[in-house]
Amino acid sequence: MRKTALITGVTGQDGSYLAELLLGKGYTVHGIVRRSSTFNTERIDHIYQGPQDAGRTFVLHHADLTDGVALVNLLRDLQPDEIYNLGAQSHVRVSFDAPLYTGDVTGLSALRLLEAVRASGTRARVYQASSSEMFGSAPPPQNEHTPFHPRSPYGCAKVFGYWATVNYREAYGIHAVNGILFNHESPRRGETFVTRKITRAVARIKAGLQDRLYLGNLDAVRDWGYAPEYVEAMWRMLQRDEPDDYVVATGEAATVRQFAEIAFAHADLDWTAHVRYDPKYERPTEVDALIGDPGKARDLLGWQPRVRVAELAGIMVEADIRQLDDQLAGATVRIDR
Ligand code: NDP
Ligand code: GDP
Repeated sequence: MRKTALITGVTGQDGSYLAELLLGKGYTVHGIVRRSSTFNTERIDHIYQGPQDAGRTFVLHHADLTDGVALVNLLRDLQPDEIYNLGAQSHVRVSFDAPLYTGDVTGLSALRLLEAVRASGTRARVYQASSSEMFGSAPPPQNEHTPFHPRSPYGCAKVFGYWATVNYREAYGIHAVNGILFNHESPRRGETFVTRKITRAVARIKAGLQDRLYLGNLDAVRDWGYAPEYVEAMWRMLQRDEPDDYVVATGEAATVRQFAEIAFAHADLDWTAHVRYDPKYERPTEVDALIGDPGKARDLLGWQPRVRVAELAGIMVEADIRQLDDQLAGATVRIDR
């Protein structure tokens, strides 16, 4: 029997890779897309199947995580085997500007979805996208036993989602798990996260379209992994008989400064010639160092990271150079016409 999965946040970085993974495993995949006045499906356009496609296995539904009734209706109709709750206002800096909105979409919506599971009577297993940001100022290395000390409205909202997931598991026996994922990146990473901001700038500086890149705190330490590998860990969590919570990380650390240095060097550029400091990109409270201990995921899920930070930066720089080349070629074609 074909399994059915529902992904919230299917248009995001992780949602797009997860949809590819599940389709490859023979699932029928449903995704929630929120209405936007511009197209927001760029990351999944290559796997789109239209309503007229016979036997389609990838189906998009308009809904919003803030609309609890829509979630109940959707779950009642779909009765999925697995639900991956990846939808969120996912940007830490933005969460200081839109704290209540972030609390609603990123925090309360996890509870809305769990309540919708209960109300709709679906027996689905639920994956909650928890985050290393929940650890905040707790010193590294962080693992499943490290106490949370979030440092942003985003981190606080994720802590709420985490405990709602644990509570619904304990209270109602829902097969719900938390994946506590450390930062993971890819060519599909949102353009305002620091890695992608850097690799896009490298491509533009190399092409002579830009000279300076303004960044905030260069000393922040992160454990950066490769997103396509991390969605595999999500899937593995839901295949276990017992629901549990897992840290997913590489266990290796780099500063923002080091990432910039590696990324610029990959394009034969000297980062010091181009990167400048702008306090605008500082946060009211910073998370200084996140370095995960992925031992439990390795032992129980058999999951291991392969791509490390230097390779990751290379993958992203090359993809951004290619993307820019394509854009410039397109612009030339348009001008030629
Ligand atoms: P993205 O920001 O790329 O994607 C977020 C997704 O959520 C998008 O599809 C977005 O839709 C959707 N979304 C936002 N608001 C709503 C809403 N109100 N209703 C329905 N959908 C909504 O995030 P990532 O793919 O990078 O991350 C996936 C999840 O994992 C997020 O929950 C994130 O917080 C969490 N996480 C991510 C980490 C990382 O390093 N990437 C680390 C740890 C946790 P739209 O495209 O329309 O904006
Ligand atoms: P986060 O770990 O989820 O906050 O992911 P980000 O990629 O947004 O930020 C990672 C780290 O880079 C944080 O410690 C930021 O303070 C730091 N940083 C430094 N300069 C910038 C910048 O210009 N943009 C972003 N997004 N982060 C920056």
